[in-house]
Amino acid sequence: MSWSFETEPEFQSQLDWIADFTRNEIEPLDLVFRKPGDPWDPASPAAKAMEPLREIVRERGLWACHLEPELGGGGYGQVKLGLMNEILGRSRFGPSVFGCQAPDSGNAEILAHFGTEEQKKKYLQPLLNGKIASCYSMTEPQAGADPGEFTCTAEQEKGQWVINGEKWFASHARFAEFLIVMVVTDKSVPIHEGASMLLVENDTPGMEIIRNSAVGPYAEQGDGVHAYIKFKNCHVPLDNMLGEPGQGFLVAQTRLGGGRVHHAMRTVGVLNKALDMMCERALSRVTKGEVLADKQFTQEKIADSYTEVLQYRLHVLYTAWLIDKHKQYNREVRKEIAAIKAAIPVVLKDVVYRAMHLHGSLGMSDETPLVTMWANIPELGIVDGPSEVHKTTVAKTLLRDYKAAPGLFPTYHTSTQREAALAKYGHFLDES
Ligand SMILES: Cc1cc2nc3c(=O)[nH]c(=O)nc-3n(C[C@H](O)[C@H](O)[C@H](O)COP(=O)(O)OP(=O)(O)OC[C@H]3O[C@@H](n4cnc5c(N)ncnc54)[C@H](O)[C@@H]3O)c2cc1C
Repeated sequence: MSWSFETEPEFQSQLDWIADFTRNEIEPLDLVFRKPGDPWDPASPAAKAMEPLREIVRERGLWACHLEPELGGGGYGQVKLGLMNEILGRSRFGPSVFGCQAPDSGNAEILAHFGTEEQKKKYLQPLLNGKIASCYSMTEPQAGADPGEFTCTAEQEKGQWVINGEKWFASHARFAEFLIVMVVTDKSVPIHEGASMLLVENDTPGMEIIRNSAVGPYAEQGDGVHAYIKFKNCHVPLDNMLGEPGQGFLVAQTRLGGGRVHHAMRTVGVLNKALDMMCERALSRVTKGEVLADKQFTQEKIADSYTEVLQYRLHVLYTAWLIDKHKQYNREVRKEIAAIKAAIPVVLKDVVYRAMHLHGSLGMSDETPLVTMWANIPELGIVDGPSEVHKTTVAKTLLRDYKAAPGLFPTYHTSTQREAALAKYGHFLDES
């Protein structure tokens, strides 16, 4: 197994450019456009501000660069996307300016794999061009982590699928051109064989958004982007099934693995930003005749944060490398994805808290980005599945490589082992 910690010089110069571009052109967008939907909503004034920036990104060949060339991307793969995302993650707008924003990136992959030619023309191209938004809707009000509890159904009737049920926290449904909705099409079999995926155009009769929630306390009701949706006899054509009936989970897998890795990559960006702030503050603030940076308590905070961020970053890049190598979400890849997803809130809690604490009152005010970083931590422990579910995946996968001890004592029981070792090497003791 080969391994390299180096980036090719040509791509490194792209990364250097991305870092400057992000700081100077993209991060200021965060200070101007503050509504929950701004980075994704094509009708937001932010979309106009992003357009010239997106054009520059396209000209540099960095638009949607993780996608294969036939989909308009550079086919750079996940490691390069990881290196980019750890810069882009500094800003809410970074991924949208570079055409790799969730959930559109994953939805584009689903359409590319399972859409009809007509659907690709109508939705995939404009989605890849950043002209429209999309939504992925799986969670229901009574069930998120356990799809076995899903009850939103679709039944065939007179050459159409008829959807009935409710969906919850469907991000961006409010301004999405289309939704990819998981429905139960066969209740007589376990959910993993009875769920299917349907493409639903927004505002199809029978689809109603009951309300939109925002994450966190957001003053303007209705500005939130996470929709509570009701389907009542909502008819969609048979052709709108993505994949075969019963293949809903197979279709979902096309996007969920990637989505989780991308959260992790962007988290590295947030962590680095928090560490940068911590270091600048430590060198700037004087207490009891010396800068904070000279105090050992501060040095410990910085050293621990640096180590945790680097360990996390390497784990994320290793996972990206595995995906590029295997080109599929096999067992090994799924274990690492689950591990880095579960680790997100843990490492953020550690590092962002230290950065806030070191800034004193300023750190918890609304006058630095830290308080927003802090407010976003809980959602990263829930979105795309709660940490408990991912930890279970890690442990179960790991345990498959082990066996129970054959006897009463463990295989590493020193007394038993020593007997065998003495039988092998004991005569050297006798000879001496
Ligand atoms: C910001 C945000 C955006 C989202 N966007 C979308 C979207 O676009 N589309 C979509 O379909 N969904 C979306 N979701 C929903 C998300 O996928 C679900 O919230 C998630 O799957 C968890 O489901 P739940 O909220 O029903 O929590 P529950 O399933 O009720 O879980 C709550 C808690 O129960 C415990 N728990 C659950 N399962 C287990 C287990 N197996 N073992 C031990 N403990 C367990 C855990 O403590 C867990 O945190 C989004 C969520 C957030 C926060």
